[in-house]
Amino acid sequence: MDYLIIVSRFEPLAEGFENMIRFRSIRGKLFEYQTADSLERLLAQAESDRCELELISGYRSADYQQLLWEKELSKEMAAGLDYNAAKQKAALTLALPGESEHQTGLAVDFGVQGDDDVSYDFIKSKQSVWLERNAHKYGFILRYPRMKEHITGIAFEPWHYRYVGAESACIIKQNGICLEEFLDFYQDKYLDSTNKGI
Ligand SMILES: [Zn+2]
Repeated sequence: MDYLIIVSRFEPLAEGFENMIRFRSIRGKLFEYQTADSLERLLAQAESDRCELELISGYRSADYQQLLWEKELSKEMAAGLDYNAAKQKAALTLALPGESEHQTGLAVDFGVQGDDDVSYDFIKSKQSVWLERNAHKYGFILRYPRMKEHITGIAFEPWHYRYVGAESACIIKQNGICLEEFLDFYQDKYLDSTNKGI
């Protein structure tokens, strides 16, 4: 598994990618195996720090991503937007099938205990602050940070974390960069070439 894989509208996943993933379930949600192990340790630490997290989303199949997309589109059109405007608005926060990190099993959407959907209010929670301070130690990064929208192509998502492995996550965190910048400028400088993509 390439833990540094980029999945975006510019670099969609190959069809059948999910057949190559080894999954493990946590609280009824699927994650890539190593991601699940790290996530389990993260959740245990958060709990002992009295910052209980809710898992809103883990792995999504291409079919499920398609369903989410159609739902979002009809919601925007019901609110009065025409097809193109609805598509543009939905694309700010939702990826098309093949273009979502959730199809890799490496992404997780967090919430506050009891939440059943993601929310911008998450940013105000102690859980969000805890994640910002600690997630990298477990190999997770805030994947779509503020001020990086022009690089990631995705609006700020305080709830969406992505597993990249602890070594890469710490470098990304310390330098205040996003995954794309890390791959372009930092990977060769900091990572031993034998570690790449592990
Ligand atoms: Zn997400």
